[in-house]
Amino acid sequence: MTLLRVVIDKDARISLPEGALKSLDVRPGDFLELNISENRIVATKAAPVADNIQSAIARKNLQTGIQFIKGIGPKLSALLEKRDIRTVEDALFLMPLRYEDRRELVPISRLSAGQTAVFYAKVISADLVTTKGGRRVFEALVRDDSGTIAFKWFNANATWMKRTWKVGREGIFSGEVNQFGYQREVHHPDVDWLQEGADLKSVLAADPANFGRIVPFYPLTEGLHQKTMRRIMRELLGGFLGNVESILPDSILPAGFPPLKIALSQVHAPAQDAALAELNEGRTPAHRALAFDEFFYWELGLALKKRNVALEDGIAFQVTHRYTKELAKLLPFELTAAQRRVLSEIKSDMMAPHPMNRLIQGDVGCGKTLVALMASLIAVENGHQVAIMAPTEILAEQHWHTIHNWCSRMEIEVVLITAGMKGKAKKEALDRVSRGTAQIVIGTHAVIQEKVEFARLGLGVIDEQHRFGVLQRGILKKKGINPDILVMTATPIPRTLAMTLFGDLSLSVIDELPPGRTKVETGIYLESRRSQVYDMIRAEIAGKRQVYIIYPLVEETEKSDLKAASQMAEHLEKVIFPTFRIGLLHGRMSPDEKEAVMTLFKLNKLDILVSTTVIEVGIDVPNATLMVIEHAERFGLSQLHQLRGRVGRGNAASRCILLTTGRLSEDAEKRLKVIESTSDGFRIAEADLEIRGPGDFLGTRQAGMPDFRVANILRDGKILEQARQAALDVLENDPEFSAPGHALMKNELLRRWERRLELATIG
Ligand code: ADP
Ligand code: MG
Repeated sequence: MTLLRVVIDKDARISLPEGALKSLDVRPGDFLELNISENRIVATKAAPVADNIQSAIARKNLQTGIQFIKGIGPKLSALLEKRDIRTVEDALFLMPLRYEDRRELVPISRLSAGQTAVFYAKVISADLVTTKGGRRVFEALVRDDSGTIAFKWFNANATWMKRTWKVGREGIFSGEVNQFGYQREVHHPDVDWLQEGADLKSVLAADPANFGRIVPFYPLTEGLHQKTMRRIMRELLGGFLGNVESILPDSILPAGFPPLKIALSQVHAPAQDAALAELNEGRTPAHRALAFDEFFYWELGLALKKRNVALEDGIAFQVTHRYTKELAKLLPFELTAAQRRVLSEIKSDMMAPHPMNRLIQGDVGCGKTLVALMASLIAVENGHQVAIMAPTEILAEQHWHTIHNWCSRMEIEVVLITAGMKGKAKKEALDRVSRGTAQIVIGTHAVIQEKVEFARLGLGVIDEQHRFGVLQRGILKKKGINPDILVMTATPIPRTLAMTLFGDLSLSVIDELPPGRTKVETGIYLESRRSQVYDMIRAEIAGKRQVYIIYPLVEETEKSDLKAASQMAEHLEKVIFPTFRIGLLHGRMSPDEKEAVMTLFKLNKLDILVSTTVIEVGIDVPNATLMVIEHAERFGLSQLHQLRGRVGRGNAASRCILLTTGRLSEDAEKRLKVIESTSDGFRIAEADLEIRGPGDFLGTRQAGMPDFRVANILRDGKILEQARQAALDVLENDPEFSAPGHALMKNELLRRWERRLELATIG
């Protein structure tokens, strides 16, 4: 430590005496930490902090409240807040929805159908007209020196329109050109009126934000206008862009991606020679760079989380083969190659002295339960308990049957815990869990209730992961001391989505079905062919097979659907199939009632099971070979796929009939066509993601899906992979973030993950 005499001038700058730099071993640009006490200042070199300070300065500026920006008053900032824009940064990261080419005005004669164009024109007539079909349409005819074109509005306020659309008025218009016969027309054009007598050229030159360039269109809200948004963005680009730091070092940003500052400027104010189509598709290098930036920090956070868990102490199981070998001998079949591969991945995780966090993906019927059971046996061999959690009572009971069936032969104690359990039975079950005599505990989320205490939980298995949130995974984990966790999902998740949602889990895929399975022949049938469908049902039952008939359950309005299913069951029983044995299953039944019906169906004491979607997941009745789905258009893609997975589970040929009314929405038609044409769960999932978009898929928001501002996992899948690899590389090479520039990156990571802290702390 060196004592210095420093001078503080009137601008609060500190000058160091000659020689000080040398004695402190600092150079201009380095940072000093000053410790100020009553009569002296102690300076120490503080180089690593430099990063933080610069970042803090830059960030602070971008965090400026939007209401402090020139021209933004309380009213405007309230409107902006409706679009979640509170700070300069929020605004800069608001992406335009689309762009319009306003680089030059197009002569009307050159406007062609399908084109979205901007042109000058003068109004020559405007009035309300009634079409041949009796519709009232407001129509205007406009012209320039080269030709004329028509404008049309449907449902316009005619009085107001007449007042604005005066003959002789001039303006600049834009919109998509349609062609009907010989007539070209624009529906609901955008309008910028010119002042009377104004000179077109000078008007355009005076308004560079809106004309003479490629112009962005932002998502708006009632009362907020495009022109206002463009004005705000210009203001921000001018005043704040200098403070946007490219925190990602060049070595990380893929070649050809501009740094953050340039990327932001290019998306809000595209260059004159920018490619319009690329802009509109969000595929310019600027858009891609922003997506990369967003993905990178997300993946870096997940990777860090995963690594932290991997460093925790966990249970190092030993594979003794005592029970696993025995089960293998008991099974009437061999494990598939995919099952064996995944099992060995699980084994090496379990043997490691760190907690396992693994996701098993596999299509319906690929045999995940068995893999989970094998893993459970390893834990049991080591004297640990296992918890298996399923999303529904029916599924939990089915797991209990399967697992109890095998385990009882090896004298392993399996306990079922359900929400409906009461009194003595419940107390007894809980006692067995807390004493540790229950070796495998199966149930719904009842398994993670407070009252359930495990003596030595070593492995937690979660079936149908997407039905549970990240939270439940965390609670299950806390039932033991860093137990291993295995989550399973039968809903194939596209790779890109899996990477965003479950990037903190290791992934195993069972990509093979047990031998002898036949493809389920799938057909779309219109209501008019119902009697033909009934004949198919009769034929199936005559062949000693069983049939599912499924009714949709629309949201939570169970009442009406319940009526549909039970009325239909009654109708079928009395009128259509009086000689068949028909059972009914729906969500309003008690667990005992459901269980009773399922058991009858399993034992082949029912020919037809009429059901709502409560049977959706995991039910296994190999003798059921025909499924009829009523109102198939009302189901989602993954739901249809899951439902169909209930048949084709034995080696007899199976069929799935999608009954529809015929009047389908575009999306519904797409869905049914996909289901009809493929049984590949991954292709179905991709299609689902495409039709519904990532926000809706699997209720992903609830499952922890981040709201990306720029990135789109459908469009930017490749960038996501690049970002993930880059994040993994950083952690691999510089886990302490000590390389130049990496300290900044770490700060930025913490800042971005701040809002998602709950996610970061639950492992
Ligand atoms: P899911 O992956 O949908 O949970 P399950 O574990 O329920 O699938 O298995 C579906 C059916 O396949 C069950 O009847 C199960 O006994 C059977 N099965 C599992 N593995 C094999 C295998 N290797 N060979 C033959 N049948 C198998
Ligand atoms: Mg299953």
